[in-house]
Formats: sequence, C-alpha cells, structure tokens
Amino acid sequence: VDRIGASEATGRIPFSVEFSPPRDADAEARLWRAVRTFEGLQPAFVSMTYGAGGSTRDRTVRVTGDLAEQTTLLPVAHLTAVGHSVDELRAMVGAYADRGISNILVLRGDPPGDPLGEWTKHPEGVEYAEELVRLVRDLGDFHVGVASFPEGHHRAPDLEHDTRHLVAKLRAGAEYSITQMFFDVDDYLRLRDRVARFDPEQGAKPIIPEIMPITSLRSVRRMVELSGSRLPSALEERLDRAAGAGPEEDRAAVREIGISVATELGERLIAEGAPCLHFITLNFARATHEVLSRLGLAEPAAAAPAPVAGAGAR
Ligand code: FAD
Repeated sequence: VDRIGASEATGRIPFSVEFSPPRDADAEARLWRAVRTFEGLQPAFVSMTYGAGGSTRDRTVRVTGDLAEQTTLLPVAHLTAVGHSVDELRAMVGAYADRGISNILVLRGDPPGDPLGEWTKHPEGVEYAEELVRLVRDLGDFHVGVASFPEGHHRAPDLEHDTRHLVAKLRAGAEYSITQMFFDVDDYLRLRDRVARFDPEQGAKPIIPEIMPITSLRSVRRMVELSGSRLPSALEERLDRAAGAGPEEDRAAVREIGISVATELGERLIAEGAPCLHFITLNFARATHEVLSRLGLAEPAAAAPAPVAGAGAR
C-alpha cells in the first residue's frame, strides 16, 4: 500500500477501512452504500476480510475484484493460510491478480469452529504467515501486509516471541502491518517500540492501528472473544451501564460511548504519529464517518433521520 503516511496534499493523517464479504443480496446492497460513502471520504485503502477457514473465498475474490474495477478505492484483499494447500494458496493469489488486486494482507487464520482451539496445518499447506508472505512475494509484484498484535498474539508465550515473529514477517517482505483492535494506546506504543528496538530497519515500516467504533455491546464482546484480545473492564462496565438492564440494549447510549472512545483513541494515535488509522466498519459507514468528522478527517455526514431503535443502524 503506497498511500499511507501523512498525506502531503492535505497534511492530514490518512485513514483506511475494513469490510467483510456480504452474505446475501441485502448485505451486499448495504456494503455498496458504505463503499460509496467512503469513496467520497478518500480512504488510503479499503481491506476485505477472508472468512474463517476460507469460508468466504469466492465472495472475497468477487467483491474485492468489484471494488478494484468499479470504484476509485484501493482494495487490499486478506488471505489466510488455514485449511489451504500451497497449490490452493497459489491459485487464490492468481485469482486476486486476475481481478487487478496487487495488495494482499497475509494471515495465518484461525482454526474453523473454535478460533482459539488447536491449530493444525494443512498437510500440504504452510504453518505460519511468514511462509505465506514469501510465497506471495515469489509469485509476483504484490504489496504485502501482515497482522500485528499490541497485546501480543494469544498463542505467543510472551511479547518477546510475538515481536520476533512479527519482525520475521516484515523481513520476509511484508511492507507494513495492521494491528488487531485495542483500547489502550500504550499497548500500541509499546509494540512500536519493541519492533524498533528489535530491528530498526523493520521498525521503520508502518504499524497501522486498528480501531473499532463500538456500536453494540454484544458485537464487541463477540469480536473480542474471537480475537483473543481484551476489553478493559472499566470500559466494559461503562458500556454495560449504558446498555441498560432490559432484553434490548440501549444502542444509542452504547454507540455514543463507542464513538467517543474511538475518537479519543484516534486523537491520541494521531498525536503519537501513527501512520494511518484503520477502522473496522462491519460494512456500515455511519459510525466511522462520525469518528472521522470528530477527528477533523472528514466533513460531517449530512443530517440523517434518527436511527430506528433495533434497526442496527451503525
Ligand atoms: P502468524 O504470524 O503465523 O502467527 C501465529 C502465531 O504463531 C503467533 O503466536 C506467532 O507468535 C507464532 N509464530 C509465528 N511464526 C512462528 C515461528 N516461526 N515459530 C514459532 N511460532 C511462530 N483471520 C481470518 O480468518 N480472516 C481475516 O480476514 C483476518 N483478518 C485479520 C486482520 C487483522 C488486521 C488482524 C490483526 C487479524 C486478522 N485475522 C483474520 C486473524 C488472524 O488470522 C489470527 O489472529 C491468527 O491467529 C494469527 O494470524 P497471523 O497472520 O498473525 O499468524
């Protein structure tokens, strides 16, 4: 991705967004509404996830290809190693290339079913993301990014081990990393310092922090659980109180906290010189747009009708 780093034209920090392949026609229409909103806000790039265990393989290729062909956005396709042989991985990279995609976020992926369960390598596959970085780089002129973990990856015995293997992915040819979402900026700063201490050359590569504007307590709990990351207890209690005691959470109250927390994270990351802010959008534009406008990175959205309770408007 060559559009990150403070934008010379605007002097503003760039931002980027993450989408997921839609499950059905309604979800696809919603994704395209978000895509068109973000197109107007000029993100540095947009990334498209690859469903657990390759479950969205065809959809990821199709939708990311459509983004490359039908929008002005720069798409970054995720690719995970889990469950694939090397031949299948090569074919996937070929399919991306055929659709004009040259930016790939290379990941190992988690075991299907229980993401925190035991990892088993495909008999003809690769064991770690580092090997997939080499494979993709050997296949052509691709720009490769990798994952990094401010709190340490849940399978890494300690932060030293975690840093060593992140640096190995960067040395293997990754040009940048995108972090797992986090809520404590100090974790991000410590990761950046560790990488720079470990290998100053690799430490110069961008570590792009990922921010999730929380819009629902249930979904953030699920994301945190699946990723093995941590929701600080003070924030969880605040969200819990806002959600209320009834069967339906008070989404407007939760969302307001989520947006202010994401804005505070963004403000501090900008002050600390982050190269770009990457937002998890869940294929909705509104919450991220609001955070961007509070950060002065986008014009505010035109006034929209108040979201209907329970409609899941983000
Ligand atoms: P690796 O870099 O291979 O690391 C996995 C573990 O092995 C770590 O604990 C590491 O320390 C250790 N390790 C690495 N190399 C070695 C070695 N040589 N020897 C010993 N130990 C080693 N998952 C999806 O399924 N689809 C997605 O689209 C997706 N997108 C993501 C986007 C981002 C920004 C992030 C942060 C994660 C994403 N994930 C996605 C989740 C990711 O697949 C998991 O977190 C996975 O468990 C780790 O992937 P990795 O690429 O970091 O693995």
